[in-house]
Amino acid sequence: MNIATTTSSIPSNLDLATLSQGLFIDNKWSPSGSGNSITVIDPSTEAVLAHVPDATVADAARAVSAASNAAGGWRDTAPRMRSEILRRCYELMIERSEMLAMLISLENGKALRDARSEVAYAAEFFRWNSEEAVRISGEFGIAPGGANRIVVDYQPIGICVLITPWNFPAAMATRKIAPALAAGCTVILKPASETPLTAYALATLYEDAGVPAGVVNVLTTSNPGPVTAAMLADPRVRKLSFTGSTAVGRQLLGEAAKSVINCSMELGGNAPLIVFDDAQLQTALDGTMIAKMRNAGEACTAANRIYVQAGIYEAFTRGLVERMSALKVGNGVDPATECGPMITPAAVEKIERLVADAVKGGARVLCGGIKPSSKGFFYPPTVLADVPSQAAMAHEEIFGPVAAITKFTTEDEVVANANNTEYGLAAYVFTSDLARGLRMARQIEAGMIALNRGLVSDPAAPFGGVKQSGLGREGGQHGILEFLEAKYIAATF
Ligand code: NAP
Repeated sequence: MNIATTTSSIPSNLDLATLSQGLFIDNKWSPSGSGNSITVIDPSTEAVLAHVPDATVADAARAVSAASNAAGGWRDTAPRMRSEILRRCYELMIERSEMLAMLISLENGKALRDARSEVAYAAEFFRWNSEEAVRISGEFGIAPGGANRIVVDYQPIGICVLITPWNFPAAMATRKIAPALAAGCTVILKPASETPLTAYALATLYEDAGVPAGVVNVLTTSNPGPVTAAMLADPRVRKLSFTGSTAVGRQLLGEAAKSVINCSMELGGNAPLIVFDDAQLQTALDGTMIAKMRNAGEACTAANRIYVQAGIYEAFTRGLVERMSALKVGNGVDPATECGPMITPAAVEKIERLVADAVKGGARVLCGGIKPSSKGFFYPPTVLADVPSQAAMAHEEIFGPVAAITKFTTEDEVVANANNTEYGLAAYVFTSDLARGLRMARQIEAGMIALNRGLVSDPAAPFGGVKQSGLGREGGQHGILEFLEAKYIAATF
């Protein structure tokens, strides 16, 4: 495999010193109480990019106080004004999109074209929620007994703790911050330690857009368990919105239960992608490349198990090998790159383990499969055929550029296989038979189904999973509801 790597080159429009100067509390940069820092690495080159402050429990309490002091003012700010500020956030994100995309590519490693798409997607949450901010309505009805009226008022839920992963450092933050602010809540964001700079770059943007001090606070910590537990134990905090692994989500649900905090959980996935004999081959291949290779496979919605019906198996597999082996692997910030590095060496080791296990179980490596020796945390685009259903990669997230293909014969068989997982986030179905497509959409246990396409994410649609992939929805008209509480007023007049 030919990897086009270079040594770290930080573009001149990126001021990493400003973005790493402190925790962002009350619209001010503030040092951490520990005086310690977290090192941010460029996964393409392994070069050190920056050191961000490492917040303590006391720093988190300061952030909660800032959010608490700002809560009343923001809740009482007219929805139209909140909407205008969110709209300005959208406009500033678009104005700064190239800088933000570069930053994402640099600290996350994803190909610049994926980073640009992420910025566009992330910005849309501001535009969409600026429109939602002025559409919060209530309900009015008559009690069945006729004695009173039932009035339902939707109020901001209160102070929110938001925790996000490294794979979409901008979009996972704006998908929470925008609806929270639209609802009238104030927030504390804890981004992933691998990709804090994007979160801090967005913090400066909120301030420039007119978000008042204390409404959005951002802190980084290498000690997320105790720091988060302290915030969740603070009676001023009323909401936890988490995106990350199912394992950490389970822990946080336990922690939140102690104070009965409202939780939204966007967790792991194990998406099946199913190609029937009657699928359009090119459409299925195009869709599979997106579903598998967006973000080099580091996506919760990534096609983790590819089930292909016997009649189209050889042609599909051949086509996928051609496309996967033609991908240009390289540094994230190189505009020619189509597949960047993984986030950490541990991520590469996990992929190597899963591939070795599948091969031991009988899978055939059709391309890739060997980690390069060059600098950076790279793993090549890989296609495995005949992956057995008991392989570990059929049950765990691969989170990398490995397409795992399994042959199937009947619809019943593939539905049973697709549902044989604790996860239920996304699923993809390729067929020319609309009735079959809709039947599959009904039978597959997932929060989101893509029919004849490789992308489901849309700020205007409800994103989320069933089973152990999560609780609640982000985006669409559902997203803002996660940050609102229904208050019932029984009125006699
Ligand atoms: P992760 O290890 O669960 O970390 C996610 C976030 O949780 C990070 O900010 C992390 O902080 C923090 N964290 C870790 N341990 C914690 C604890 N004990 N208490 C509080 N916070 C804690 O997940 P990841 O590896 O970053 O992200 C990949 C996972 O996210 C995959 O499973 C993927 O499927 C899932 N994901 C889901 C969606 C969705 O919408 N459903 C979207 C994107 C990703 P540190 O970085 O400091 O450890």
